[in-house]
Amino acid sequence: MRDYREIPMWAEVTPERWNDWRWQARNAVRDVAGLRQVLCLGREEEEEIARSLDRFQMSITPYYATLMDPVDPRDPIRLQAVAQGAEALEGRYEMADPLAEDANSPVPGLTHRYPDRVLFLLTDRCPLYCRHCTRRRLVGQPEETLPGHHVEAGLDYIEHHPEIRDVLLSGGDAFLLSDQRLEEILARLRQIPHVEIIRFGTRTPVVLPQRITPQLAGMIARYHPVYVNTHFNHPRELTPEAVAACGRLADAGVPLGNQTVLLRGINDCPVVIRSLVHGLLKARVRPYYLYQCDLSQGLEHFRTPISRGIEIIEMLRGHTSGMAVPTFVVDAPDGGGKIPVMPNYIVSMAPGKLILRNYQGRLCTYNEPVGGEDRTGGGVCSTCGTDHSGMAAQGVGTLFYDRSLTLDPVAPAPKGDSAPHRVLDSPTPIT
Ligand SMILES: *Cc1c(COP(=O)(O)O)cnc(C)c1O
Ligand code: SF4
Repeated sequence: MRDYREIPMWAEVTPERWNDWRWQARNAVRDVAGLRQVLCLGREEEEEIARSLDRFQMSITPYYATLMDPVDPRDPIRLQAVAQGAEALEGRYEMADPLAEDANSPVPGLTHRYPDRVLFLLTDRCPLYCRHCTRRRLVGQPEETLPGHHVEAGLDYIEHHPEIRDVLLSGGDAFLLSDQRLEEILARLRQIPHVEIIRFGTRTPVVLPQRITPQLAGMIARYHPVYVNTHFNHPRELTPEAVAACGRLADAGVPLGNQTVLLRGINDCPVVIRSLVHGLLKARVRPYYLYQCDLSQGLEHFRTPISRGIEIIEMLRGHTSGMAVPTFVVDAPDGGGKIPVMPNYIVSMAPGKLILRNYQGRLCTYNEPVGGEDRTGGGVCSTCGTDHSGMAAQGVGTLFYDRSLTLDPVAPAPKGDSAPHRVLDSPTPIT
């Protein structure tokens, strides 16, 4: 990490301003001319960057810029923030909206895919536009895709859907909103009796830790239970500033999780991920998900085989604290949702006995209890006293409890009263 005063354009900036998140957000590096002040760029590199900026904007907070190695083009911090020429290439399988978030969207900015929870995008702006952003069709586009007044419609939708018990506020970066605006939204959500938990998905602790002011943390604490999931991808992002930002949230009673995206040349390695997850636990952040990179536009150069993620989990599970091991998930294209994948631990089985293997490769047996209760085919469960056949409305589990022999796939129906809403009318132009 460099001292920002070594960078000529920021040499005169006082520490007060530097630590002011609004100053950081206003002074983000957005073009090649600005980048030239913080990195040593060759001519060819500059041209490449300029070319990819035609496709997707760049924005790098001054703070994050000081974490980049000025001379190494393969620096993992730099690769996450600075456009590369490869982004301008159209990948064979890429899609604007690989997760079909817009198709599952009953109102702009809100995706209702799972039965009891919604993803609610409050803004399309971020302090730093990650080069690997899955939502780049919306986020950081020159034209606003989420104007802000959509929030009212989203809150209304949640109010009218009593099955929603978990609201995930994301973006863009929800923490770019002012404390006052965030408090209005939290207060509204807390008035809805069926909303049990509220979660934020934000990268500000990583790219703009100054945003996590004691005031923000204190305000959030008034609306508990509120969870925050952040997005560290590399151990070098765990700077004293970032760790302190997480600490302020943890001190305010906010349980913290982390979602990492597996990125080629950045963190697709068990050594890097182990160091990251250990660092996260020290910062009181529990690793939550490790994501397979999505098929969004211009991400082909970041993608790894799914087997790389399985390899990483193999090298973590059992070898280190279980608390440190995230769930590796593939967010399936076309709205399939998150699918966990992991090494196989069941080696074989017969009625009454399982053969399992542990992390060392040792084969272990487990004898099943004799005469377990058969709950399949209906009847009242002796544990909870209800009939499970009425429990699950959908999913593989229904095969346990009703008399069906097969389960046929159903087309995911858009939730809500209105037709699916397309947030973007026209596809993002591909240059
Ligand atoms: C990830 C996601 C959620 C939350 O999923 P969890 O597994 O509960 O963390 C909810 N809605 C959408 C659309 C998502 O992509
Ligand atoms: S913080 Fe999230 S939404 Fe914003 S650019 Fe990064 S990945 Fe995309």
